[in-house]
Amino acid sequence: MNDFLDLDIKSVKGVGEKTAKLFSKIGVNTVGDLLYYFPRRIEDRTNFKKIKEVFDRETVCIKATVFSDISSNIVRKGLIIHTAILKDDTGIINAVWYNNSYVKISLKKGKEYIFYGQVTHKFNKWEIQSPIWEEVGKNLYLGRLLPVYQLTKSLNQKTIQKAVLEVLPYADKITDTMPSEIKAKYNLAQLSFALKNIHFPKDIKSYEIARRRLVFEELLVLILGLMLLKGRKLKEKGPKFTNFSVSHFTNSLSFKLTGAQERVINEIIEDFKKDVPMGRLIQGDVGCGKTVVAAAALYIAVINGYQGTMMAPTEILANQHYESFKKLFEPFNISVGLLSGSLTKKAKNEIYEKTKNGEIDILIGTHALIEEGVTFKNLGIAITDEQHRFGVLQRAKLNSKGENPHILVMTATPIPRSLALIIYGDLDISIIDELPPGRQKVSTYVVDDSYRNRVYNFIKKEIEQGRQAYIVCPLVEENEELELKSVLEFFKDLKENVFPNIEISYLHGKMKAAQKDKIMKDFVEGKSKVLVSTTVIEVGVNVPNATVMVVENAERFGLSQLHQLRGRVGRGKYKSYCILFSESGNKTTQERLDIMQKTNDGFKISEKDLELRGPGEFFGQKQHGLPSLKIANLLSDLKTLKEAKEAAFQILKEGFSKNEYFYLQKQIKNLFDNESFSF
Ligand code: ADP
Ligand code: MG
Repeated sequence: MNDFLDLDIKSVKGVGEKTAKLFSKIGVNTVGDLLYYFPRRIEDRTNFKKIKEVFDRETVCIKATVFSDISSNIVRKGLIIHTAILKDDTGIINAVWYNNSYVKISLKKGKEYIFYGQVTHKFNKWEIQSPIWEEVGKNLYLGRLLPVYQLTKSLNQKTIQKAVLEVLPYADKITDTMPSEIKAKYNLAQLSFALKNIHFPKDIKSYEIARRRLVFEELLVLILGLMLLKGRKLKEKGPKFTNFSVSHFTNSLSFKLTGAQERVINEIIEDFKKDVPMGRLIQGDVGCGKTVVAAAALYIAVINGYQGTMMAPTEILANQHYESFKKLFEPFNISVGLLSGSLTKKAKNEIYEKTKNGEIDILIGTHALIEEGVTFKNLGIAITDEQHRFGVLQRAKLNSKGENPHILVMTATPIPRSLALIIYGDLDISIIDELPPGRQKVSTYVVDDSYRNRVYNFIKKEIEQGRQAYIVCPLVEENEELELKSVLEFFKDLKENVFPNIEISYLHGKMKAAQKDKIMKDFVEGKSKVLVSTTVIEVGVNVPNATVMVVENAERFGLSQLHQLRGRVGRGKYKSYCILFSESGNKTTQERLDIMQKTNDGFKISEKDLELRGPGEFFGQKQHGLPSLKIANLLSDLKTLKEAKEAAFQILKEGFSKNEYFYLQKQIKNLFDNESFSF
């Protein structure tokens, strides 16, 4: 079959020991590696112009004769300019080269060549700058679309281009890796066509067709692998719900649901009506009201005789959900329990017992929920809040607490849809794209230390108006002890010197849960006015009376994280402010923080964040662990991504063990090289 792909790169004409070593630096050791070493871009060298037709600054190919001798002028030490006059049947143009004595040996007066370079028009003179050339009729690199590859030191374009031209004939012999049914259904090119045209395309259209085929295959392999990893079983049965009268619950709320909230609740109900368990991700910007949507889903589970559970990443948040759910469900006689790591053993056991015998209808908690002791009587739905704080495994563990329960995951760090499709390959996506009425844009300012007094005075003024403020300091894990100390000193200074007559409190992750709860409670109730905190308040915390969010060393945070922090204010009817202190004069930092000033749209921010930091840093290694891609761009190949996802579902549904999938299976194994797969 495709064994020739394993041939050593040294078997390629022109590739000796030395070049092979260079190739191995870019991961190319075999013929197959080289065929699959896709160019970064294609350079268009097909723009042929007559000399009379050229424009200033245009990059062109000109078919012309060397009309003059080549003259050389030493302009100054170290700079020799070579010029020649070129002529075609429409006119003449000067060709200019700098320090390129090869011109003199190689170009022959009176001979016709193709020249390729940028044209300029200066001081009434037309020139073509440092053109490269080939003899007419023998041109390999001019007059065509040419691949531009990622290089490494000492390995130049031409070497790669030449070697690729040598191996391209193999493409004709290749057995296609994609079953013909899929190719037909998605209108994909043959592999041989794709490989030839991704490197040396016949025309731009062919390149695009080739690229689409290869992107599709790469994404299909990735998605299939992820789906297999997640062990999605498409044929399993979910809990059976028959009662969907959620209006009793929604009518009892103190506000009217937004259109987006209603739509998403309906999407959830439609899922409940199906045979298979729901798997749904709710994305919605901070403050859009995801909690009440989760509550509606829990309500439906309970009126159908099932239990529900919701996991939150911090005790503060779990506690907050617990308090608000207790109130929401009180009229319906639905019992809510809270399980957090800080409970005494006795209290924990009590919760375990009540969960097991069904006395607790809805169990809220932190990671403690996925501990061994937790068993449900009949879990109907498992919800993960702020899922970006959890790993895939933790989510899976929560889900395994029931027998194929419905699954809902919620996130306020919206990730671009294209990526969501990949990372949550097994989930459907709902988006809450509307904020409750009356919310005002949070005004955001990036300032340096010279504004410190003004900012403090501003906080004092807001507090006089009855509002509250957060001041957040970064805490970097490597240096926790030291930093904690400096944060504490900062707090002391604020307390003694800046806000001596104002209730100010301090919160960090290492505190005992009871202590945290107390501090948070005081802040929620308005007893303390300023809360100095590490990022433990980053997610979920809901204090509508707070109107100022100050972030110290803002440059240390990712944009999405800053957006989360900013989302702690502007949750009520009061005008709110976010002030980002940054000392870094660094230009890219400044540009990054500027984005925060310009937009409040979490989707735009996460897209930008992702663009700036790349998927690896954006998600944190632990969370995504996605393999790197050769050709697909997760941000721009959205359409193909959707098609590949659809195809992956279909393949898994119909059985992936067939022979025709041999090559796809092989690629999955390669891509996820440390995972074991069974197909
Ligand atoms: P998030 O989506 O960030 O989790 P929350 O669910 O915490 O947001 O909701 C933020 C605030 O908005 C809460 O105080 C909540 O009670 C309120 N809220 C939610 N939905 C609405 C609505 N439709 N109208 C008015 N206020 C709402
Ligand atoms: Mg929330």
